[in-house]
This record gives sequence, C-alpha cells and structure tokens, in this order.
Amino acid sequence: MSSKKTVGNELPVHLELYRPLGARWVNVPQTASVPTSRETTRTAGAAAPQPAKTTSPPTRVFFDHRTMFDELPGPHETIQEIQADLGDCRRCKLAPSRQHIVFGSGNPQAELMFVGEAPGADEDEQGLPFVGRAGQLLTKIIEAIDMKREDVYICNILKCRPPENRNPESDEIAACEPFLFRQIAAVKPRVICALGTFGAQTLLRTKEPISRLRGQFIDYRGAKLMATFHPAYLLRNPNEKRKVWEDVQKIRDYLRSLRSL
Ligand code: SF4
Repeated sequence: MSSKKTVGNELPVHLELYRPLGARWVNVPQTASVPTSRETTRTAGAAAPQPAKTTSPPTRVFFDHRTMFDELPGPHETIQEIQADLGDCRRCKLAPSRQHIVFGSGNPQAELMFVGEAPGADEDEQGLPFVGRAGQLLTKIIEAIDMKREDVYICNILKCRPPENRNPESDEIAACEPFLFRQIAAVKPRVICALGTFGAQTLLRTKEPISRLRGQFIDYRGAKLMATFHPAYLLRNPNEKRKVWEDVQKIRDYLRSLRSL
C-alpha cells in the first residue's frame, strides 16, 4: 500500500488512536488530503472517499474545536443578526463596568479575520476593536501584507473590557465565545489570525503557549488558522516583530495562492 493511500484512507483511524494518548495535533504533509469531519464519522463499510490533492501549506490538525460549532444557529446568520441577538448583553459580569460593547468591525465577507483578546480603554470608549496603539500597529501589519483594514474582519474573544485590562476569566469567555463562533461561521474567512494567547487558546481549546502555536497553519473548520503574537505584546517586545512578520507573510502568500487558482 502506498504511503499516500495510507494517509488518505486511514488518517482518521490513526487520529482516533492518538487522541487517548494525549496527542492534540499531528503534522500533515503538504501533499496529503485532510479528511473532513463528515469523512471521519462515516459508517463502517461505506466506500472510502478518494483523497484529492490540495495546494494547502503544511498544516496541523487539532481535534477538539469542531464540536464547538455544533450547536450554533444555522449557517445562514448574518453579522447584523448576530449583533442584534447580542443586543445590550448582560450575560457575564463584565457588563456593568463597560462603556460600549465592542462587537467587531470590517468586511463581513472577509478572506482574513483577526481575533484578539478583549477591548482596552480606547476600544471601550469608541466601541470599535483595535483602535488604540496596538490597533494602530495591527493596521500597519495589515497594510504590510498589501491589504486594508476595511478588507479584513476584526473582533475579540470578549466583547467587553475587563476592568484594568486584566486577563479574561473562564466564565467570561464561556459566556461570550458563542458569539465569536457565530461571527466566524457568518464571515467564513479563508484564514483566521489569532492574536495572542487568549485568542489562540480559546479558538483551539488548548493550553499550549502562543510561542509554540504561532508560525504554522492549523486546520480550522475549512479555514486555516495562524496564531501570532498580539500587537500589544509587540509594543512591549519590539524585537519579536520579525516573527509576526514571518507569520503574516505566510498568510499573505497563502491568500495569494488561493486567488491565483
Ligand atoms: S463580555 Fe460578552 S458575554 Fe460578557 S457582557 Fe460583554 S458581550 Fe456579554
């Protein structure tokens, strides 16, 4: 049996074997096909689908994130409908101290979606994501890959500012993240760029540090997820900018490759 056939037909079985051993991801060679969740759950005896070649870059496959989307409303929600449903949200303890809900902004059909952590003081004041110093740096990053802010969609895990910009707490993330997942389902980006620890760990259901998650594509609901450092972290650690530049170059090149198909 050729190695390509083994990867195409038996990868789901191998993944299930690795899961109890604690494995959270595997590397998939560039020429391998990645089975969809539907393929991994097909009934015994059903004809195995033929693997199709992909032009995708090397990628990792996480196990847990698919179920996060299982109970969402239908796939035809619009961003406006999701925002209307969020309303004047009081679902967690951040509501009393916020000035504005920061829902998200940008192109609702963007190829590229950025997911950060939570609004800061400037964002809370204006009701828009990434408008402070970190936001200005994010704008430069976007422009460095030949895109404009209005081309992409930008939002956060939390829609309200934690007091004193403290870290998000698990009950707040649990209350707010369904709206993020609905935003992702509505925008259907080709690439999701998770900014910083909370963005990446929440989307991937992992505790791996951002330093290990960043820099490589991860399969994510038919999109590619690239984790990288948060712009606020770069303001404190400017010598890390080179790594972010490497990460966003991969995003730029992948999106270019899709456009040229
Ligand atoms: S952080 Fe999210 S869940 Fe909590 S009040 Fe704000 S919008 Fe609602």
